[in-house]
Amino acid sequence: MTSIFGASQQDLQEWLKAAGEKPFRAEQLFSWIFQKRATSWDQMTNLSAALRLSLSEAFTIAPLKCSRRLVAEDDQTIKYLWELEDKTFVESVLILAPERRTICVSSQVGCNAKCAFCASGKQGLKRNLSAAEIIQQFLLIDADLAQKGEHLTHVVFMGMGEPLDNYEEVVKTIRILIDPKGINLSQRRITLSTVGVVEGIRKLMGEDLKINVALSLHAPNQQIRKKIIPYARKYELSDVLSAISDYSRATKRDITYEYTLISGINDQEEHAHELVKLIKGQQCSVNLIPYNPVFGLRLKRPEKEEIERFEEILAEAKIPTTRRFTKGTKIAAACGQLALQTVESIESTFKTAAEAGI
Ligand code: SAH
Repeated sequence: MTSIFGASQQDLQEWLKAAGEKPFRAEQLFSWIFQKRATSWDQMTNLSAALRLSLSEAFTIAPLKCSRRLVAEDDQTIKYLWELEDKTFVESVLILAPERRTICVSSQVGCNAKCAFCASGKQGLKRNLSAAEIIQQFLLIDADLAQKGEHLTHVVFMGMGEPLDNYEEVVKTIRILIDPKGINLSQRRITLSTVGVVEGIRKLMGEDLKINVALSLHAPNQQIRKKIIPYARKYELSDVLSAISDYSRATKRDITYEYTLISGINDQEEHAHELVKLIKGQQCSVNLIPYNPVFGLRLKRPEKEEIERFEEILAEAKIPTTRRFTKGTKIAAACGQLALQTVESIESTFKTAAEAGI
């Protein structure tokens, strides 16, 4: 059965019409799900009992099953592990920062990109998530935050999977997120991170959307990039960069480059200088992400001094730079790490939500 959480207003209108109901009920139904956050058909009191019964026969309203909720040692990062109907697992991360409540959502079970440093690709791609499964990560974590009187403010597609490899469901999710009758989130608060799927970036440019796009660059040249990102063999760096800068021009959004620093591979001073040359003059910023160790991988996180030196070189060139995801190492907060590990093996290293008082 289809989940109600992935239904657009248009899907609902079509279904209602076929069921002999008035299409305007779509708006009511949509608002029950995404604004009033109903979790059962009975709550939808302005819909007739007969309609509620047919809805319950056509759609499920069951939530995703939260199998683990793990709080990082600093209490600022919370990881949720979801068990899906087919017994596969995906994760979301909630990042608490001053003025911001950001959810990092997964878009696929596993990933086809198989980047050398990433846990998600190790299991390969198992399947795409549906819009219902992606949007529920938002709804359930928002409900969790609501207990403290707070709400999610930002969404980043930086969890498991390559969002542009699951284009239709991801775009459908974004449309529900920004729908004024749905979650009503500003497009400025949504960032899609891609490994550089050129046709996906160009297709997104053709939509009437203006979300932020971040590019996982990770290298200052095609040669190094090819070593750590298998997709770089398919997509030349110059093509990826021109797609991303065309997107930025068309949407008037700054480009964000993500750069995972890995010791001895892409973290040397010469790499920083080369990176500066590559992106200087663009409306952009760089997110430096020191490599988070993944079990079974032989890569190393650079020393603190090396990370700082890299940062300095970008700062001297006046390239706005931030550092991310240095926290939450113990809860395996990098993409796909939790779903990959046996949960039991890491569970002992951090507090339960109750202990942390969240
Ligand atoms: N496929 C998309 C989104 C998922 S990865 C993309 O490639 O952008 C999201 C970010 O997590 C990427 O920028 C990647 O660099 C980062 N990441 C994944 N594994 C990591 C690790 N072990 N340490 C540090 N960053 C990691």
